[in-house]
Amino acid sequence: MPFWILVWIASILLNAHLARVKHRGFAAWMVLALFFGLLSTLILALLPPLPERFGSSATRPCPFCQAPIPAAATRCVYCRHELAGAAKPICTRCGAVNDPGDHYCAQCGQPIMPGTSA
Ligand SMILES: [Zn+2]
Ligand SMILES: [Zn+2]
Repeated sequence: MPFWILVWIASILLNAHLARVKHRGFAAWMVLALFFGLLSTLILALLPPLPERFGSSATRPCPFCQAPIPAAATRCVYCRHELAGAAKPICTRCGAVNDPGDHYCAQCGQPIMPGTSA
């Protein structure tokens, strides 16, 4: 097997892995690797990881502008209103939103680290 085919296959597998780690389009980067090989792997490796879309997807409507904002947000990202009493700690293991002052996750029992609330 020619060497470039090995590199090509490796780049496709690397893209699949990197896309998963960085929460980017899995299929899209596999296709990019098919056409551009290691070049697309290099680009993907340099891209910053996207925030996790699953687990931290809990949103609630802003009481001021009704826009969907993260459940743990202390300030609306749309209208910049301060949201009183919104500092609810989010469990780092299961993503459950806990009551302020809780030290253990109500859902899985994981100790809640101070400062994990947004
Ligand atoms: Zn708002
Ligand atoms: Zn939990």
